[in-house]
Amino acid sequence: MDQQVTIYQAETRKAKPDYNELSFGKHFTDHMFVMDYSTEKGWYDPRITPYEPLLMDPSSMVFHYGQSVFEGLKAYHSGDDVLLFRPEKNFERLNKSNERMNIPAVDVDFMVDALKQLVDIDHDWIPTKDGQSLYIRPFIISTEAGLSVRPASQYKLMIIMTPVGAYYSNSDHMSPVKIYVEDEFVRSVKGGVGFTKTSGNYAASLKAQTKAAELGYDQVLWLDALEKKYVEEVGSMNIFFKIDGEIVTPALNGSILSGITRNSVIELLRYWGYTVNERRISIEEVYNAQKDGTLEEVFGTGTAAVISPVGTLKWKEEELVINNNETGDVSLDLYETISGIQTGKKDDVLGWTI
Ligand code: PMP
Repeated sequence: MDQQVTIYQAETRKAKPDYNELSFGKHFTDHMFVMDYSTEKGWYDPRITPYEPLLMDPSSMVFHYGQSVFEGLKAYHSGDDVLLFRPEKNFERLNKSNERMNIPAVDVDFMVDALKQLVDIDHDWIPTKDGQSLYIRPFIISTEAGLSVRPASQYKLMIIMTPVGAYYSNSDHMSPVKIYVEDEFVRSVKGGVGFTKTSGNYAASLKAQTKAAELGYDQVLWLDALEKKYVEEVGSMNIFFKIDGEIVTPALNGSILSGITRNSVIELLRYWGYTVNERRISIEEVYNAQKDGTLEEVFGTGTAAVISPVGTLKWKEEELVINNNETGDVSLDLYETISGIQTGKKDDVLGWTI
């Protein structure tokens, strides 16, 4: 896309929140990126403006028919530098979501460049303490006014950013999470939109998340919709199992989100010489492995935590405690290496940061 981003600087700067007590997604930086789309003009008027509310027609199609997609990634401080972790992958995935949701594609290189400009303008918002980062949320909504059910002819793409605290207070003590295996509700079906990051997937997941929280679990593990037999993914993470030396993660089958951390973990493990199999894995196989003592580690992968060891899996009446509720070696090595690369403390052997 051969366009310049117009920059409108904020006249006043907001007070920063207390960086020792950051809650996720509550405080937004001084600026945001905005770009509009119309069928006639394509994507136009890319701009960085002060962060401000939107004025929208109540009939805007997004409010009714939910054409809405988003992404999530982070910027990290690295000495005097700022690093982004594989941002092109997020815009490539945004285009996969766009394609399925009938939203026009964006130019990946242009978006990465626009993001760099936005992060640069608000770089003083990036927290500097260990584990802290700036969370970046690109999203697109359909803005055309009118109630006909059809793909909109107008959209808005925005990027907003919020400083976030460390996920773990101490990386040697990553706290294992308790996961509830959901066997009533389903997240997604083949042929549906499970592989996209569209808002409706998250709306549809909330009821099960509430149920799990009420029962004392942190997140839900989804099973396939057809047989409720095969493992899919966790609320906002992909999932990995280490069984008798083999590392297994569910194959991407159309109903699972293709996590960028998942992809990075697979590449890194293979680089280290591990066997990683992307295949179907049933919850029964996990259960049997735990019972015969071969289930060595279970961990989730995602932008928020990077690696999140799973300490407990609750499936029907069974409560499986994994690896004595301790963080396994593979989880710890992956966490230290990937978060080290993200913050420039470890060699970026696979060329992931910019
Ligand atoms: N699955 C779902 C449903 C998610 O929302 C996320 C978070 N984006 C993930 C997996 C992990 O993806 P990523 O590694 O790209 O953050």
